[in-house]
Amino acid sequence: MSHATGCADARPTTDPCVRCDILLGLDGVRVEAVTRSSTAMRVMVSTPWQLMGCPDCGGVAVSRGRRMRVLRDVPHGDVGVQVAWRQRRWRCTEAACPRGTFVEQLPVLVAARGVLTRRAVTWALGQLRREHATIAGLARRLGVGWATLWRAVKPELERLAADPVRFAGVTSLGVDEHIWHHGDVRERGPKELTGMVDLTRDSHGRIHARLLDLVPGRSKKAYADWLTDRGPAFRAAIEVAALDPFGGYKAAIDAELADARAVLDAFHVVKLGTQVVDEVRRRVQQDTTGHRGRKGDPLFGIQTILRAGAENLTDRQVARLERAIGADEAHEEVYVAWRCAQDLRAAYRSKDATVGRGRAEKILTSFHTCPIPEVARLGRTLRRWREAFLAYFDTDRANNGGTEAVNGIIELHRRLARGYRNRDNYRLRMLLAAGGLLS
Ligand SMILES: [Zn+2]
Repeated sequence: MSHATGCADARPTTDPCVRCDILLGLDGVRVEAVTRSSTAMRVMVSTPWQLMGCPDCGGVAVSRGRRMRVLRDVPHGDVGVQVAWRQRRWRCTEAACPRGTFVEQLPVLVAARGVLTRRAVTWALGQLRREHATIAGLARRLGVGWATLWRAVKPELERLAADPVRFAGVTSLGVDEHIWHHGDVRERGPKELTGMVDLTRDSHGRIHARLLDLVPGRSKKAYADWLTDRGPAFRAAIEVAALDPFGGYKAAIDAELADARAVLDAFHVVKLGTQVVDEVRRRVQQDTTGHRGRKGDPLFGIQTILRAGAENLTDRQVARLERAIGADEAHEEVYVAWRCAQDLRAAYRSKDATVGRGRAEKILTSFHTCPIPEVARLGRTLRRWREAFLAYFDTDRANNGGTEAVNGIIELHRRLARGYRNRDNYRLRMLLAAGGLLS
């Protein structure tokens, strides 16, 4: 049951209800009446009368009455809120003026032809930014369709994304790629997007990773073009550029960020070491037994042990590893590869960066001569990346970890939205969710 209640304070138009105005907090209008049921609230508002000039000729306009315009406002808990605006209509009386009739506009309340109040749009942005909300969910709460809400939100996101202020103060930059769709490439363009992440530390040395942008493709060009577009001041300020072992991004850094230190991401290098152990184990398994690992084979079921750090192994796991290695002379290779991977880990884990650097340099002079081909190949890779590999130890352990964290946020939001079809919308939503847009 709904019932109309003229507010007790509601008086004729010259004497607005101050209490309701404060309660509703709508700028530029006064409340005439509030109607409410258990599921919906409707607030009737209007502007005070004022002398109105014609927007074209400036001549004094005469009143042509009002029309009702229903706007969706921020929901009050589970109660949907509508603002019924009794919008004034005017007519220009200048005979020579083409304007005719027009309606008043109140940008602080609602955009021209908008359906949502200005503050409902702001509320929706906050929900998207902080509460992992979806457009579909918010549209439901506002009582509008998905497209209506997105039409209201998108220009705000575009405005924030175009603001160069969000690129100010970046001294540490990460880059990475991810797959954003599994659909038709001809229809939606490249499956990969290159993402740039702000990894700058605050005064306490903490990183608040922020997604700065997403551009189509995974190539030198994708990253280099974006860096070019940022302008010389941005590029000159970058001191550290973290990356995964992908030559294309390295080439972009070399070309565009000549003064920055490129730093190979520690996590990825350690992963390369783990992959080598896996490969050697599989090869030796195949060579010694003629088949892939199965239950009862000594090398079967020790993958987890081989991937863990030696310092984390329990006595039982160590014993198991020793049994597996000791079972056949050929297993010695697995052990050596495992030791190499552990050396790599140990370099990164060294408390003292100078000690760590020493260990890393030793790896650079030894791995590539290893008789185990997989280890030698890793050694050659690291030698190719020598400077970026060592840079970790004298850049206060710069790494791409923040970029991985941002990728986690992207993945979460892609799932919440059940995928995206439009790349521009995807970019804007991810920039908002992953901190790229400043308010
Ligand atoms: Zn006029």
